[in-house]
Amino acid sequence: MTTGLAFNLQQFSTEDGPGIRTTAFMKGCPLRCAWCHNPEGMSPHPDLMWYDVRCVGARECLRACAENALTLMPGGMQIDRARCTLCGKCADACPAAALEVIGKEWTPDALMEQLLKDKVFYETSGGGITFSGGEPMQQVDFLCEVLPRCQDAGLRVTLDTCGAVAWKRYARVLPFVDLVLLDLKIMDAARHQAATGVSNEIILDNARRIADAGKTMWIRTPVIPGYTDDRANIEAIARFIRDALPTVERWDLLAYTNLGKPKYHRLDMPYALEDAALFTHDEMEALGRVAAEIVPVARWSGATR
Ligand code: SF4
Ligand code: SF4
Repeated sequence: MTTGLAFNLQQFSTEDGPGIRTTAFMKGCPLRCAWCHNPEGMSPHPDLMWYDVRCVGARECLRACAENALTLMPGGMQIDRARCTLCGKCADACPAAALEVIGKEWTPDALMEQLLKDKVFYETSGGGITFSGGEPMQQVDFLCEVLPRCQDAGLRVTLDTCGAVAWKRYARVLPFVDLVLLDLKIMDAARHQAATGVSNEIILDNARRIADAGKTMWIRTPVIPGYTDDRANIEAIARFIRDALPTVERWDLLAYTNLGKPKYHRLDMPYALEDAALFTHDEMEALGRVAAEIVPVARWSGATR
């Protein structure tokens, strides 16, 4: 039986599709977006995180680690990630839950049992299950085991995807998907490559194919200072949606959030937007108007300063 690796299972989510949902955030992503607010979803493997705000200095973790991978310095915990075997003993020993191994293995049976717990809420709200990430299509074999079970159980499924995986994978899962949330970030190929590490060619091609397959889509564009927020980019995405994606029901412009910043520090990863500020309400309003002039179902959301 194939298992899946998820870094979070969020109950009562209202952000990732219609109604009340459980969102399964799956590990592994082919992109490396500079602004990603779920960096713990990028790696296809578990990750060890240390939460400075929780640490009470008990040092139980140091005693528990047989690999000597931890050093508690005045400036914080240093994790020797080359030594760390992700055994989780430090996390078990910590009385303050300041260490956590991110990434839990699920069998299809165990995941279904968890998802079905909130079925009454999905039914009364028009919600269901969202598979997100990371990029859930990186674990397509697992999806192919779980999605038919969701369908059999009457659970409506949303797929939240970056679009950068081979079409043959989409062909396997789309029959079991009711709604596709697709990110369109940057229309210029070179800029997309520079900001995410991947060309947008495959993403745009898959977007067209998903629409051609008749799947209802919600497009999402993260509005990121210096990366995606220029008028020309928003207009180019708008024209693509208008001209090539007739099944788009909604287009969300998501204002940059810095909530992901602490996670980079916890994972010892560099963060490209360390000093970036949130947008003002007026800036987002202006971009929202640019988008809605071409695609009337465009809307923006998110915190502003
Ligand atoms: S996960 Fe295991 S090896 Fe890694 S730091 Fe914790 S105790 Fe040490
Ligand atoms: S596609 Fe999404 S999950 Fe993947 S790196 Fe970009 S923002 Fe993060």
